[in-house]
Amino acid sequence: MKGIWTYHALLPEVENRARMSLGEGHTPLVKSRFIGPSLGLNNLYFKLENLNPTGSYKDRFAAMALSRFVQQGIKVCLATSSGNTGAALAAYCAAAQLPCIMAVVDGAPEGKLQQMRLYGAATLMVKDFGKRPEVTEQVMTMLGRLAEEQQTSVQISAYCFCPEAMAGVQTIAYEIAAAFDGGTQVFVPAGGGGLTLAVARGFERWQRQYGSAGHHVVHCVQPMGNDTIVSALAGGEMHPTAVPQSTTAISGLQVPNVLDGFEVIAACRRSGGTGFGVQDEQVWECQDWLAKKEGIFCEPAGAVALAGVRRALAAGALDPDRPIVCLITGHGFKDVQRASVMASTSANAYLANEKELKNYIIQLINK
Ligand SMILES: *Cc1c(COP(=O)(O)O)cnc(C)c1O
Repeated sequence: MKGIWTYHALLPEVENRARMSLGEGHTPLVKSRFIGPSLGLNNLYFKLENLNPTGSYKDRFAAMALSRFVQQGIKVCLATSSGNTGAALAAYCAAAQLPCIMAVVDGAPEGKLQQMRLYGAATLMVKDFGKRPEVTEQVMTMLGRLAEEQQTSVQISAYCFCPEAMAGVQTIAYEIAAAFDGGTQVFVPAGGGGLTLAVARGFERWQRQYGSAGHHVVHCVQPMGNDTIVSALAGGEMHPTAVPQSTTAISGLQVPNVLDGFEVIAACRRSGGTGFGVQDEQVWECQDWLAKKEGIFCEPAGAVALAGVRRALAAGALDPDRPIVCLITGHGFKDVQRASVMASTSANAYLANEKELKNYIIQLINK
């Protein structure tokens, strides 16, 4: 059993007996065979976080969170999530045999809620939670108090709520640093920015520990419909800004309030990185492109980094000599609606007999 614990020297102390893993991490770094070369980038890589046990990088968070629970003898997991954090926590709770209770936002996608429930988690939807700020605040305050009474804490994948569990996510940077001694430029999709901060802090931690030569530049990418960080980062400002309402359709990145944005801006800037805003249509195009030109099936949020690379290329902001790494953060099966749109452009037929089949095949081959 290794998972994130390969890097235990760089993680918060957890006894051996309490360390949990479902095989998270050690995700492949696949070199682009088509998209990179077609953009004139001969060193473009995809880090396949979609291949984690529940289909997203959030498993690195959940592995750390539940290991700490086991270590501390905590008996119940309370969380709020509309998606991948919930699925990851639900799976690791099942493995730890702890009850998992999820307060979910009003209107959260049923597919993602199902993934939580199939691992045995309870999904409790609260009217207007995540929609009206005062309701959201009331629910969060109540949960915080209840968690304290029940000797647990509310699990949310951001440093401002759960810094110790977020340390598990820093293992992404350790894996990249171990693979690319000479440094990279990494593109990271952001909602609240916790992931971006984990990657940037991970490289800094690695550097302190091993003092390696390579420098890693961390770029942050957001949909323009949830631009809390990237315009400020690119514009030389210090402060992130909350948006009144998230207008992006990219599930997982709809985080209108400021979570880790302030630290993200500082950390990306320290690394020499900047921010890129992308349109939803560009993201969907990249998602389709990854599937059809590379054989990589990710959810829309997982294609945001590649959309960011295209922006950076157009802006002349790429260093051609330094490997480029896109974080492919979540699996395509997470979003079945987008999957059926993507499938609809390929040939599909019901044929009466072998003759028709033959004609159809020949027609396809000669097209
Ligand atoms: C959670 C998540 C993100 C971004 O996370 P933040 O920490 O909110 O910036 C990106 N992609 C996927 C698939 C996610 O689940």
